[in-house]
Amino acid sequence: MSTVAFPIPVKAAGGCSDAPVLRERGQHEVFCGLTGIIWLHRKIQDAFFLVVGSRTCAHLIQSAAGVMIFAEPRFATAIIDERDLAGLADANTELDRVVGQLLARRPEIKLLFLVGSCPSEVIKLDLSRAASRLSAQHSPSVRVLNYSGSGIETTFTQGEDACLASMVPELPVQAADAQQELIVVGTLADVVEDQFIRLFAQMGMDRVRFFPPRRAADQAPVGPHTRLLLAQPFLADTARALQARGAQLLSAPFPLGIEGTTAWLQAAATAFGVPAQRFEAAVSAPTARATAALARARLHLEGKSIFFFPDSQLEIPLARFLARELGMRLLEVGTPYLHRLHMAQELALLPEGTFLSEGQHVENQLDRCRAAHPDLVVCGLGLANPLESEGMTTKWAIELVFTPIQGFDQAGDLAELFTRPLVRRMRLAA
Ligand code: SF4
Repeated sequence: MSTVAFPIPVKAAGGCSDAPVLRERGQHEVFCGLTGIIWLHRKIQDAFFLVVGSRTCAHLIQSAAGVMIFAEPRFATAIIDERDLAGLADANTELDRVVGQLLARRPEIKLLFLVGSCPSEVIKLDLSRAASRLSAQHSPSVRVLNYSGSGIETTFTQGEDACLASMVPELPVQAADAQQELIVVGTLADVVEDQFIRLFAQMGMDRVRFFPPRRAADQAPVGPHTRLLLAQPFLADTARALQARGAQLLSAPFPLGIEGTTAWLQAAATAFGVPAQRFEAAVSAPTARATAALARARLHLEGKSIFFFPDSQLEIPLARFLARELGMRLLEVGTPYLHRLHMAQELALLPEGTFLSEGQHVENQLDRCRAAHPDLVVCGLGLANPLESEGMTTKWAIELVFTPIQGFDQAGDLAELFTRPLVRRMRLAA
């Protein structure tokens, strides 16, 4: 196990900073943005997500979330049926009626998202006008916002970006004489968020907010004194909207693995003038724990090859972690979109010569994957079964979004997500 000392010197350029990227525009196999509801509804505890969609949309989120029998779910689908599609019913009247019933039955809802889908786009239902109308009707107890999770407009994790971007205009204006404040942007599991809150507190940083918040009313003021640190790599629109309100983006890799987490925290610590000794005191114990956890995983992963299909936009940070901290060989790292600015530090850390691709032409990529014979393939659910039946070992990309993987104390769990399918394949072969 190669240990990683801190502070991590993050290269400004190098690695794959200027590497060529294969751009593909063909058929792609990715979930739509509705999937984000699965983790967003757990995070914002008094929000409700009403998908304005079809039975297909309802099946997608129900099967992705599992059937909740004992809890009142905080998402649902208002089904657009044949009468709506044929223009026989006034979809707006129907929507107002459904929302009225929902809010009367569920007074704990403080923030309602109307989530657009392919069918609502096809019939050109204007959900932004519907949200303003319903917000006026139900304020101040409920705010109604809208965003699109449609497969026409969004892939998988872009649903979260669209959701968070819809919340930015609602955030209060920061006072002109406000102190500098950090806003960590991107949904993190509560357990991870609590760990980061403790680490920031140990560094003496107490003006830290997380976005999205756990409660809808907990709105961080935004302005020129806001320093913005991305916790997820798929939030281009949200970051742009916050920057347009004056927030300043801190450049950092993403908090995956020891190296990524240390550099991510370091970016915040530098911006807030945390002394080096205080920073080291805060991160030394969790770094040691993570180092021990990764040593075990490295026994299984070192020298193994991995191929990433584009799915969640987490691919590049994951590849950097697997290559640099666990010794895996990167055959291809595919990403649905490559945001060069947000990925600058990650690309600089990727091993030189890594094959990068952006977008997808699924048939071409399958050919490359078969030719490369990877030990492990990270891909969407739709590709995993066919590839397994061809003898390949796969990891579902969606699991990497659902599982808490950020931070020091999750580094071992993150590595284990990759060792598990390899160990299972070994056992089956024995
Ligand atoms: S939004 Fe579109 S792609 Fe997503 S489940 Fe509904 S119909 Fe399918």
